[in-house]
Amino acid sequence: MDVVLSVTDLTVVFSGFRALKGITLEVGDREVVTIIGPNGAGKSTLLDAIVGKSPVASGHVYYQGHDITNKSPHEVARLGIGRKFQNPNVYNELTVFENILLALKGTHGILASITSKLTRAKKDKIAWVLERIGLLDKAFVKVASLSHGQKQWVEIGMVIAQDPSIVLLDEPTAGMTSDETHLTGEIIKTISQDHSVVVIEHDMDFVKQIAQRIIVLHQGEKLAEGSVTEVQNNSKVVEVYLGREKIDVAAA
Ligand code: ADP
Ligand code: MG
Repeated sequence: MDVVLSVTDLTVVFSGFRALKGITLEVGDREVVTIIGPNGAGKSTLLDAIVGKSPVASGHVYYQGHDITNKSPHEVARLGIGRKFQNPNVYNELTVFENILLALKGTHGILASITSKLTRAKKDKIAWVLERIGLLDKAFVKVASLSHGQKQWVEIGMVIAQDPSIVLLDEPTAGMTSDETHLTGEIIKTISQDHSVVVIEHDMDFVKQIAQRIIVLHQGEKLAEGSVTEVQNNSKVVEVYLGREKIDVAAA
């Protein structure tokens, strides 16, 4: 496996509270890794630490073999790690096409990007992104008129428009209908043809739809790692989730 991202013995401390306690993991080229775990397990903190948003107290983050521990979020993004946050951060008054255009490398500022003549390469790139997020037919629609789920896809599009090697998604299906959730799974599978993907997720049906490998976090520690079946049959995981309805780890 070609390793794109690796995290070794990572610890994050907030005012004495150890939110992550020695996490080690690897993400391969074009692999989809899903992170699950109860609220407060440290899932978002793990992504924050990878992108330089939460300070790493000890341990390391390596991207394509380079140590990027505690680099600035801007530098990490520039190197090729794309991160989508929970709330869509899109321009409602612009079209889907314009939103993707703004995210492309080498595009500077709203006015310049809308008034300057578009190169064929940029148009092709935007069409390529829109196809991947399933919004080609909505290209010239204002983002304001899209559904919540479609807005999330626009933001995923804005992340992949920057050509990251790896895309980090924090609960991308939050607030989505079940149809939108399923479509998001298909979008993630499509994206993984060109990018590695790390997804934090609660919905176990969704996890089953996309997951190649699952990592379970609990109280800042890695509780288990493996395939859907391996994780579901792991006695430590069953114990942590016992009685929780959202994650039916006991189901076959
Ligand atoms: P998850 O995403 O798994 O629900 P988080 O990573 O958001 O969990 O949080 C893990 C723990 O770290 C929680 O107890 C949370 O309160 C704490 N935490 C997260 N971010 C901060 C912060 N910036 N300052 C202090 N504590 C934090
Ligand atoms: Mg979180």
